[in-house]
Order: sequence, then structure tokens, then C-alpha cells
Amino acid sequence: MNQVLESMKSKEILNSEAMYKQIIEYSVETIFIHLESKFLYINQAGADFLKALKGEIIGGNVLSIFSEDEKDLIRERIEQAMCGEVTQAIEKTIIRFDGSLVDVELYCHPVQYGDKRAIQTVLRDITIRKETEKMLQDRQKLASIGQIAAGIAHEVKNPLTSVKGFLQLLKETNSHPYLFTMENELEKAIDTLQNLLQVSKPNLHEEPIIKIDVCKELNSLMLLFQDKLYNIEIKMDVRDCDKHILGKKNLYLKAFFNLMKNAVEAMPLNGILRIEHYFQDDYVHVKISDTGVGIPKEKMNLLGTPFFSSKTDGTGLGLTQVFTTINDHNGQISVHSVVNKGTTFHLKLPQNPGGM
Ligand code: ADP
Ligand code: MG
Repeated sequence: MNQVLESMKSKEILNSEAMYKQIIEYSVETIFIHLESKFLYINQAGADFLKALKGEIIGGNVLSIFSEDEKDLIRERIEQAMCGEVTQAIEKTIIRFDGSLVDVELYCHPVQYGDKRAIQTVLRDITIRKETEKMLQDRQKLASIGQIAAGIAHEVKNPLTSVKGFLQLLKETNSHPYLFTMENELEKAIDTLQNLLQVSKPNLHEEPIIKIDVCKELNSLMLLFQDKLYNIEIKMDVRDCDKHILGKKNLYLKAFFNLMKNAVEAMPLNGILRIEHYFQDDYVHVKISDTGVGIPKEKMNLLGTPFFSSKTDGTGLGLTQVFTTINDHNGQISVHSVVNKGTTFHLKLPQNPGGM
């Protein structure tokens, strides 16, 4: 009788062990078991995440996925876990088998593995969380720079506007050719300040939210670039024009204009400016592409930062206005660019921007 009970019990244990193994094996998180810094087991998600085959990982050194200066801390964690302490999750950057780095959150705890007491470590990919945190920080930084800049812009714009007024009066009595140049230059300066005020203090430009016929607006804006002055060809591919959006019209027009202007400026000799409009997955899509100089990879994450410009006479405020406007309308923006081939700005605009 006892023997029967014993064998039933061991069968139960075996069953629950098999179930436990299955749960771990099919878990979407990276789970591995190690002893004396050697990998004893890793689940499939883990092998995929570490970019290697199970066979290449098992038997190897666990510490090899950490950088030299992290190894002591990890060893300490493992020892704590060995002593039965449940360690707090920590954030680390690990080195995968293909050499790529990835931010993870990890925690260790002791487990019974066969007849051995080992450590089970769980890794969670936190790349997206980190990116979101960084974006938030960047935004806060931008917002405070913007506020300072807006304050200065406001102070400088007023005296410049009065100088412009006096220049105009002077022109009426004394038409010196320099006066025209002075007025032109002054206008450029005031325009820059105006742009800066618009992107940093959008509330100054309280605009009603109205229905916008994006197709119609793109067609009118496009005409501005059809001048012989620009040696470019314009291709329009507008579909689903019955789909209108709600938003602040002047901000949107300025954003489309800024994108088209950049596209044209990226093609100093000749090229094709392509403007697309279509409706898909509840969004109005607008794509503005050029066959111009393109944007180098290392410059991509600077796009939208105030004053970032590669042009000698650029202000670096155009894209800031574009990003602010699209974000404020709860839209999305993505950029695809190949150096010397061209650039595409892809906007996804919601039909209704929600609470603005
Ligand atoms: P600006 O046009 O005054 O330089 P923007 O904010 O409009 O300022 O653009 C910032 C920078 O982004 C540009 O100077 C340029 O380097 C890059 N850029 C933007 N759009 C394009 C494009 N379509 N092709 C190549 N580079 C671009
Ligand atoms: Mg520009």
C-alpha cells in the first residue's frame, strides 16, 4: 500500500515538474537557470532574445552577457539569491551574442533544479520603456528651453517691429537703396522670432478647431512651389479626398508648407517632390517625399530639435513647428531617409484630435 502511495506521489511530482518546465519553456520572457555562473537551462524566448541557439548558450558563462564593470555587482546578486534572498529587480544593459546591447530589468531567485539548488534569472526587455522615459525628459527640456526662448523672442520682437515702422517712414522721405535691404533683413529677423513664438508658446495663437479639407490645402500649397525658380517636378497622388480632419488650420498649413519647403531645399538642382494623401486605419495619411540629399543616420534624432539646421541660412525651427503641431493634434510622424536618394515625411493625422 505504502509503495503504491509513494509511486502516486512521485508521479504527481513528475507531472508538476513537467508542467512547471512547460510553463517556463513557453514563457515569453527570458528565463534561465544557472549554477556557479554556468548556464544550465534557457527557454526558447531567452535564446531568441540573446540571439543564439540554446546549444551555444548552455554551458557558457552567465557573466559573459554583462560588461566588465557590472560583473561584480551581478556576482553579488547571485550570491544573495543563493542565500535565499529574493533580490529586487535591477536595470542593466546586457550584451547579446551578436554583440548588440539591450536594456533589461532582471531579478534572480533560488530554485531547485533536479537535485541541485540553482538560480533562476528572469530578464525583461525595457527598451521601449527607456525610450519613452527619454522622450519625456527631452520634451521637458525642450519645453523649458522653449519658454526661455519665447520670453526673449517676445522682448526682442517688439523693438524690432517699431524699428521696421520707422524704416518705412524713412523710406517715404528718403529712398536710399540700403533701406530696402535693411527692411528685408529686418523682416527675416521678425519672421524668425514669430516662428519661435509660435512653436514655443502655441497658446499665444489660440485658433479654433475647424474642419480641414487636407487635399484642397495640399493642392493650393503645392502651387507655391510650381514657380520656375525651383527646378523641380511635382507629383500629386491624392486619394480619399472626402475624408476631412478637424484641427487648427493655420498650424497644419504651416506644417505642410515647412515640409514642402525642406523637400524643395533638399533638391538644389532638380528632383521630384511627391505629395500623397490617402485614408487608412482611421487616419488621414500625408506623405511628402523628395529625391534630395537625404539625412544622415546620426542626424535623424536631432530632427525637430529647435535650431538644429544644416543650412547656412537655416533657422532650424521648421521641423520643430511640424513636430509640435502633429503631436498637439495627437497625430504621428515618421521619417524615412536615404542619403543622396531622398527623404519621406509620413504624417498620420487623426480625423478628430481629441482633447486639445
Ligand atoms: P531649416 O530648414 O531652417 O534648416 P528645419 O527645422 O526645417 O530647419 O530642418 C532642420 C534640418 O533638418 C535641415 O537643416 C536639414 O538638415 C534637415 N532636413 C529637414 N528636412 C529635410 C529633407 N527633406 N531632406 C534633407 N534634410 C532635411
Ligand atoms: Mg526648413
